[in-house]
Amino acid sequence: MRIQILGSAAGGGFPQWNCGCANCHRLRQGTLRGKARTQTQVAVSSDGKAWFLLNASPDLRAQIEAVAELHPRAGLRHSPIAGIVLTSGDLDNVLGLLLLREFQPLRIFATSAIRKIVSQDNSFFRLLERVPGQVTWVDLRPGAAFELNVQGESGPGICCRAVPLPGAYPGYVNEEERGRLAEDQAVLALMLQGQGGKLLFAPALPAVTDQMLALMRDCDVLLVDGTFWSDDELRQARGGGPTSREMGHLPISGPGGSLERLSLRGPRKIYIHVNNTNPMLDEESPQYRSVRAAGWEIAEDGWSFAL
Ligand SMILES: [Zn+2]
Repeated sequence: MRIQILGSAAGGGFPQWNCGCANCHRLRQGTLRGKARTQTQVAVSSDGKAWFLLNASPDLRAQIEAVAELHPRAGLRHSPIAGIVLTSGDLDNVLGLLLLREFQPLRIFATSAIRKIVSQDNSFFRLLERVPGQVTWVDLRPGAAFELNVQGESGPGICCRAVPLPGAYPGYVNEEERGRLAEDQAVLALMLQGQGGKLLFAPALPAVTDQMLALMRDCDVLLVDGTFWSDDELRQARGGGPTSREMGHLPISGPGGSLERLSLRGPRKIYIHVNNTNPMLDEESPQYRSVRAAGWEIAEDGWSFAL
């Protein structure tokens, strides 16, 4: 399995257009030892020909252009992108779908609840279904395995399993509808198995259960929620707002944080979906050093590797 990290920041990217936090400010000034990042986007492929996107970021157009493997190869209209798997209905995970609306046949794998809130409750997304065969929504059941294959083809695809997480539906879903939607279809982690190993993709990880820990131990690579360093990080940066845990992101530091909970040996551990306020983006910070000393890497745009 080939894995491309096209974007590695949380929503807003790094720097974020309206953010003057220490990280964003210093990055713009050129005084931060650290790297700019676009919003999280990962692509996987079993054969290097057909690619599947894990979510569809608002930065997708530039992210596709940055990687030659994702460019058209056959004729006037073509894309090696065969499908998209959605881990939630968050805008940062689905806005990129609108950039893929050029009558390109695509499969979108999502839970029925995510399909409903995205494609039926937001009329813009009907642009993806203007002609028959444009977009095919494939129902994804939490816990069930499915094959990431090109439509109509079988073969050594990637076996994927959606792991339900205790997360919430996005803010654009009203209270009444939230009550009607299945709780286990809101936020997912993805377990992907190719011929060479297993990858867990969890850009939003609200908590680490013992069951999740067992799944992670069985993996070769973890791409895990590195959004916030501390639970009150946004409050400190903005003078108010929700905590990291309230936003569905287990913070990295502190008691019960991911650094403590995921002190696993074995899998390659990579933080992704890093918010621009996170002090570990400064490669001269003690936070960066402690993450690296604990065996973690911090994903950067443009990384690619094989499993
Ligand atoms: Zn910032």
